[in-house]
Amino acid sequence: MITRRQLFFNHIAQTSPFPPALEIIKAEGCYLFDAANKKYLDLISGISVSNLGHGNEEIKKAIHKQVDEHLHLMVYGEYIVSAQVDFVQKLTENLPFSLRSVYLTNSGAEATEGAMKLAKRYTERTGFISFKNAYHGSTQGALSICGNEKLKSAYRPLLPDHRIIEFNSIEQLQFITEDTAAVFIEPIQAEAGIILPEKGFLEKVRLRCNEKNALLVFDEIQTGMGRTGHLFAFHDTNVLPDILLLGKAFGGGMPLGAFISSNEIMSKLSFNPSLGHLTTSGGHPASCAAALASLKILTETDILKSVLRKEILFRKHLKHTSIKSVRGKGLLFAIEFENEIVNQNVIKHCFENGILTDWFLFSPFCMRIAPPLTISDDEIISACTIIIEAAKKSSLEV
Ligand code: PLP
Repeated sequence: MITRRQLFFNHIAQTSPFPPALEIIKAEGCYLFDAANKKYLDLISGISVSNLGHGNEEIKKAIHKQVDEHLHLMVYGEYIVSAQVDFVQKLTENLPFSLRSVYLTNSGAEATEGAMKLAKRYTERTGFISFKNAYHGSTQGALSICGNEKLKSAYRPLLPDHRIIEFNSIEQLQFITEDTAAVFIEPIQAEAGIILPEKGFLEKVRLRCNEKNALLVFDEIQTGMGRTGHLFAFHDTNVLPDILLLGKAFGGGMPLGAFISSNEIMSKLSFNPSLGHLTTSGGHPASCAAALASLKILTETDILKSVLRKEILFRKHLKHTSIKSVRGKGLLFAIEFENEIVNQNVIKHCFENGILTDWFLFSPFCMRIAPPLTISDDEIISACTIIIEAAKKSSLEV
């Protein structure tokens, strides 16, 4: 009989030669269980998605309730869908007045696309600036502003009028000009290997955008929803974006993204032509119900406070000579090893010992740590013990 593994390789379109092809049959809290019932501690949350762990009861209840009421009714923006409105009411209570118009999408990349179109319409310009090793999604517009040539070169021609500049280089902000529609930036760069902005850098970006009347777009698709210990990473800065992008954990485990701006900016999508951005399933009711349940937990419990304490615990226990640095904020870390081989070996040893970690798109020496925010202190300590054991073994193997 053909196995599910064979079916996976035969029929699920592959995008890499060596996917881990782990077959998970159950996920609960911070654990995933494979087909042989082996238990794995999840230190990556499906790449910063399952921020409240797996199988959260409140989220499941909200989804069930919505499924019983209704699923899809109409393409986006035409009918008053209560799940969308209730969710966005709660969301905008947690955002400044200038970010009160929310366009709900299916994914992060679609949020990027919508924001790019919106910036072109609002500024009547076509130029985009983004940063080295930035990742904003894989569709053609988002790929055009990707900060890594290796991922995009096979797909050229992409959008013209784009320039990549160095993250944390104040000097290179001069490339933001009167031709720039928008500057896209992750307030903490994720796929670059968790690169934090130097003190004052985001303020300088904001200032230059103001001087040149370019829009500033914060991509918080990975850093949002409590990941850094704040509901949004920008809450811990003095800088407000003109457009905010959300995705990943935003849907509470269901597919959902958003680009968010002021009513004034967003109104450009309604005229000349109207229907300036269209989606059939963006803001799906079941996703919005899950997202509201998740947002309530993030904003009405102490979970965000616990993230900062857990960051300290991770840092205390992640010490070994082969670890060059531990970069990050909240529960979003890159552990940097001396080279790519050590990193791959550590990831492999962790996997064998029931710990799921991963690498980053553009930082081969670094291992990704982004567990559910609900991870317990004991789970952090035992995960770190296994990582350190793996680091010891791996550095001896090289
Ligand atoms: N922006 C950032 C910062 C991301 O990390 C990602 C995905 O990894 C995206 C955008 C794209 O989101 P999606 O995969 O939902 O299209």
